[in-house]
Amino acid sequence: MIEEILTNLYKIEIPLPKNPLKSLNSYVIKGPEQNLIIDTGWNQKECMNAMQAGLKKVGVDIRKTNFFITHLHADHIGLLSSIAADTSAIYFNRPDADRIRSGVPWDNSINFARLNGFPENELQRVLQSHPGFKFRSKGYPPFHILEEDDKISIGDNVFRCIQTPGHTKGHMCLYEPSKKIFIAGDHILNDITPTIQLWSYDWDPLEAYLKSLDKVYQLDIKLVLPGHRSIFRNYKERIEELKHHHQKRLDEIISILEKDSQDAYQVASQMTWDIVYDSWDLFPVPQKWFGIGEAIAHLKHLEEKEIVRKEIQGQRILFSLNLGHRL
Ligand SMILES: [Zn+2]
Repeated sequence: MIEEILTNLYKIEIPLPKNPLKSLNSYVIKGPEQNLIIDTGWNQKECMNAMQAGLKKVGVDIRKTNFFITHLHADHIGLLSSIAADTSAIYFNRPDADRIRSGVPWDNSINFARLNGFPENELQRVLQSHPGFKFRSKGYPPFHILEEDDKISIGDNVFRCIQTPGHTKGHMCLYEPSKKIFIAGDHILNDITPTIQLWSYDWDPLEAYLKSLDKVYQLDIKLVLPGHRSIFRNYKERIEELKHHHQKRLDEIISILEKDSQDAYQVASQMTWDIVYDSWDLFPVPQKWFGIGEAIAHLKHLEEKEIVRKEIQGQRILFSLNLGHRL
């Protein structure tokens, strides 16, 4: 499905079959010499077909087209190497590019999940069922790294790079100040909540995310073009909702830990999830994987705030409330 949002700015809806996200929004900006595509979809047939049909309809010559990728998740970057031409510049942020280049193996995340209580029989099924693994890009073209405040000009648009870490370490948005357009990736979504997950204890993504929300709140925006679902305008209200959502999650985890010390998997199993399944046991393995990643991100944030303590017991990481945390 293709929609002209503004003059020379199009949205191509790329289907993500059998996934709760439903689809990815790829944005195409046509310029007199060069075009720009923002985000691509998975490395998978249905995504490829939708992208090719969309580009044909919009009349884009791929050899005169550059790409901006908001973050490293496979639904945003997976298809890139299959559609980019050797003449395309690929704009990307440094932290996510470093992570891709370092080739951090999925085994690290599996081991990390195991330490956090993910059951062995379910771990075996994670890789076969995880879309980020199944539909990942097979190789990457060279990246042109962009930093905060760098500009991309296309036609009468001058997009400014806005770093918004949280959803990933390097997540980057684009802002066009004269038209007040904000290309949001997965930083703010209107109909669903961007996931904040952690798969190693080396940073506090929730702290980064909350700061990034405050940063975007200060911008003057008329139209938010998100990576999934509907385009929206009420970004200030949405940012407040997202902050409230995470505060509620933190409070919920504190009350879960009031019973006793637990691992992240146990914590996740008692949290409230906005999902159609009746109980945690019925969640498909990839949803449990996202759930535990979310729980760990929130636990890490509480640990940084010295509300929660983490200890390693044998092969297991346990969390408990710091005595006097309410004082
Ligand atoms: Zn994402």
